[in-house]
Amino acid sequence: TFHKSKGQHILKNPLLVDSIVQKAGIKNTDVILEIGPGTGNLTKKLLEAGKMVIAVELDSRMVLELERRFQGTPYSSRLRVIQGDVLKTDLPYFDICVANIPYQISSPLTFKLLFHQPSFRCAVIMFQKEFAMRLVAQPGDKLYCRLSVNTQFYARVSHLLKVGKNNFRPPPKVDSSVVRIEPRKPHPEVNPKEWDGFLRICFIRKNKTLGSIFKQKNVLSLLEKNYKTLQALKGAQNVSLGGNDYMDIAGPWNNEMMESDDDEMDMECDEAAEGEGSEFKNKVLNVLKEGNFEEQRASKLTQEGFLTLLSMFNKAGLHFS
Ligand code: SAM
Repeated sequence: TFHKSKGQHILKNPLLVDSIVQKAGIKNTDVILEIGPGTGNLTKKLLEAGKMVIAVELDSRMVLELERRFQGTPYSSRLRVIQGDVLKTDLPYFDICVANIPYQISSPLTFKLLFHQPSFRCAVIMFQKEFAMRLVAQPGDKLYCRLSVNTQFYARVSHLLKVGKNNFRPPPKVDSSVVRIEPRKPHPEVNPKEWDGFLRICFIRKNKTLGSIFKQKNVLSLLEKNYKTLQALKGAQNVSLGGNDYMDIAGPWNNEMMESDDDEMDMECDEAAEGEGSEFKNKVLNVLKEGNFEEQRASKLTQEGFLTLLSMFNKAGLHFS
């Protein structure tokens, strides 16, 4: 019997397993990380293709089954099974990650991999189709969202295979897609918290103009709070504000990475009363005007666009973390 809560859907189509392994481009010198090996259908092909497989599996029954399956075969010395939750496990070195994962860990796992050091060559992962489409979405696509911008900032992402429900036992409720993620090396030199904080604001309503988002009271008050904190620190002159202060690591990534893009759920407009025109509000809006961003919308903005706007804000002393 399979545990639904652990997302246990076993790949039963051997041609599909072959195709995933082939698309991963495994070398016979590769150390492969597999997440959620289950009964080991994919594991076996990975052992045939690579030098070593490190498999992280949550379910102790599956761990036993996996060990039994390869016991007494030449593969057993090249397989290492770690029992535990992959999100709580310190991952060892690997060249490549191949996995058919439980979909409920998609977002935190993606970010765990994107920030894994030392960086790996690529990850070939089965996701729920809608999640996969968000990962690869381009500016102007319906599914373009904060997850798309964030992921593509740290990695090249490409769609490899569409996979129907009937390739699994038991079949899941949703269709799936296999995606390739290749981390960019080196990582972009932007503080991850600053970048994510900025994107969260731009994508509050992805189809709203940036001009109207940055007029919102709650956005302005957050920016003003950060601004005042930094001014106070500068005033105290006990902290250097050089580039290296932005090297801190990313905060906890969670499932919120997938914001809603349901237009019915628009937030209250919450704009500062017209004509009030505080000095700080003008400071913020001037940055948008200067870069011609007032009438633009997150739903159509490219990564370069976001980077340009963030660096203009930062130059004006405006920060998001
Ligand atoms: N790889 C196998 C296959 O393709 O046939 C099984 C894939 S099944 C979708 C997901 C597997 O991940 C299950 O074996 C489940 O027990 C395991 N799993 C669930 N949550 C996990 C977690 N947090 N960390 C590691 N493994 C997990």
